[in-house]
Amino acid sequence: MSIETKTTCPYCGVGCGVIASVDDAGKVAVRGDPAHPANFGRLCSKGSALAETLDLDGRALYPQVRGERVTWDTALDMVAHTFAQTIATHGPDSVAFYVSGQLLTEDYYLANKLMKGFIGSGNIDTNSRLCMSSSVAGHRRAFGSDTVPGLYEDLELADLVVLVGSNLAWCHPVLYQRLAAAKAENPGMKVVVIDPRKTATSDIADLHLSVRPDGDVALFNGLLTYLADHGAIDRRFIADHANGFAEALAAARATSRQETLRLTGLAEEELDAFCEVFAASEKVVTCYSQGVNQSSIGTDKVNAIINCHLATGRIGRPGMGPFSLTGQPNAMGGREVGGLANMLAAHMSIEDAADRDRVKRFWCSPTIADRPGLKAVDMFRAVATGQIKALWIMSTNPVVSMPDADAVRDAIASCPFVVVSDIQEDTDTARLAHVLLPATGWGEKSGTVTNSERRISRQRAFLPGPGEARPDWWQIAEVGRRMGFSCFDHAAPASIFAEHAALSAFENDGRRDFDIGACAEMSPADYDCLQPFQWPRQKGRAMSETRFFADGRFYHPDGRARFIATSVAAPRRVSADFPLILNTGRVRDHWHTMTRTAKSARLSAHLAEPFAEIHPDDARSLGIQDADLVRLESATGAHVIVRALLTRRQGPGSVFVPMHWTDETAACARVDALVPGITDPISGQPASKHVAVVARRL
Ligand code: SF4
Repeated sequence: MSIETKTTCPYCGVGCGVIASVDDAGKVAVRGDPAHPANFGRLCSKGSALAETLDLDGRALYPQVRGERVTWDTALDMVAHTFAQTIATHGPDSVAFYVSGQLLTEDYYLANKLMKGFIGSGNIDTNSRLCMSSSVAGHRRAFGSDTVPGLYEDLELADLVVLVGSNLAWCHPVLYQRLAAAKAENPGMKVVVIDPRKTATSDIADLHLSVRPDGDVALFNGLLTYLADHGAIDRRFIADHANGFAEALAAARATSRQETLRLTGLAEEELDAFCEVFAASEKVVTCYSQGVNQSSIGTDKVNAIINCHLATGRIGRPGMGPFSLTGQPNAMGGREVGGLANMLAAHMSIEDAADRDRVKRFWCSPTIADRPGLKAVDMFRAVATGQIKALWIMSTNPVVSMPDADAVRDAIASCPFVVVSDIQEDTDTARLAHVLLPATGWGEKSGTVTNSERRISRQRAFLPGPGEARPDWWQIAEVGRRMGFSCFDHAAPASIFAEHAALSAFENDGRRDFDIGACAEMSPADYDCLQPFQWPRQKGRAMSETRFFADGRFYHPDGRARFIATSVAAPRRVSADFPLILNTGRVRDHWHTMTRTAKSARLSAHLAEPFAEIHPDDARSLGIQDADLVRLESATGAHVIVRALLTRRQGPGSVFVPMHWTDETAACARVDALVPGITDPISGQPASKHVAVVARRL
């Protein structure tokens, strides 16, 4: 006999429902949940291999101080005392939390509450900064709120799905399966893939546009110009619901057609074919992901896309809208609780005095951060300069995943006090911890996550935590209590979720999009059996309102959306010394820095070692042959050594290297060491897909 538990996959932002079965011998089996509305039973390779990743090899099992086992009391007292002392001596901005889209919403909520409401600093940022912060900034500019308008079913209802900078087939595989199935059912449906690489996603594309890196703004501004010149603008929608169209169109027209072709690298027929199919299709969904967000003009890319949807009124209705796809399982949950340094809880604004006062009163907190904190890249720079003197890193491995990874490693190593909470004992980051706090992982902890379509689902424990590992929310609550703060007396995640829900509804008269007030009085029993649902879920209202902007009402104070005049001015960073553009990204069967997926032999077998995809013409001119070992070096002086993979799927002039491998899993393969800390000036998101490098055969 086995016991079954419904939970959610911990990998990507699709947020698939999973049924985990544990038999009498303790053996775990995993299958897709047919009732979950994200996946209807489907799982991808990573999700279906979850049971193979649950062994305890390498797990952190007890608290440690400088590598020595200690009791929880000793470790927590040391963390609380050192943070309190540092704040008393150097002020609240001398400490920081760096957290993760892997945290559950309840963990995230308490970390944000402790830092912003009780310590009184905005210095909490998250690895989601590297993933989707440009989308957040673009949404806020256009809509007045960080709102993802649509639903997954919109991809199935569309006449045209445009995928920009998104390898859906590998990075959101089950959503790709849903799209492929819909296209097979409806041969009239068109798919356009816009990506410098011809990825697996291109296999279902009617049109693949191998746009130049960072050519996206020029492309969508060219589309806006085409729509205006061909009578495809919805002038009634604009008049009723949006401001700034004339300025956005003037900015788009500032780039000539010839310049658009040069910036995009497209042939005239390709540009025209895209514009024609977009103009002719009534129902259009434009999905975008890291290829859009991870850019020094990422926010403008997002707004250039949204401009085209606003201009045609294709938003808020079935089968149409711009759609940001989040990378991590709970990037959306982090946004909801204010896990970014420039946001406040429940989608309130840290720059708004009334919002700050509202949150402070709700928390009954002694203080509230009065300005945005340091975003991820700036946070680690502040660690390097000594401005940050105590740092708590939760559930992430920045020594591998941050840009300028070597400088980040050196900064953490020089920090007077570093706390790391992780499930693994010996990550590149955990090795630098003064205090290591063992965390429970997937299958051992309970809480909620929110997927890319705003659907909140439960993660449920079905295994005991190993050794002395404890959930992140418990660790944060214990430190908060030991720092002398009240309001951290939660005994279980249910009460944290209820508090989060109550805050979302607190003095919310409909001017804020995020409202799950119907969950505020939920009992622990109700929380246990909470079914997946999409927000909003307001108290006293039916749950039918799942697609935003259907009424043409946006969240700027005047209720209207904003067109944004965007700039095509992407920096050209290549030179004779560094002639190739490095694009970093994911592979199908690994996740982040492989702490889980490397445990599965079949996942590791897909692509067994790190590689660089190089176009054969570039390889020929560099004297590189297929399977050669090559050294890629950037202007930072950092380098990786990887296997050359010659393929015409890669555009000429650029190379692709996956981001998963560490120096532990393959010698000299931390590709983020090559990525400089250049960021989008609005979102602070690093430009991880546009790095000038040189390649040499070893
Ligand atoms: Fe998990 Fe994403 Fe695969 Fe779904 S698509 S099973 S959420 S990795």
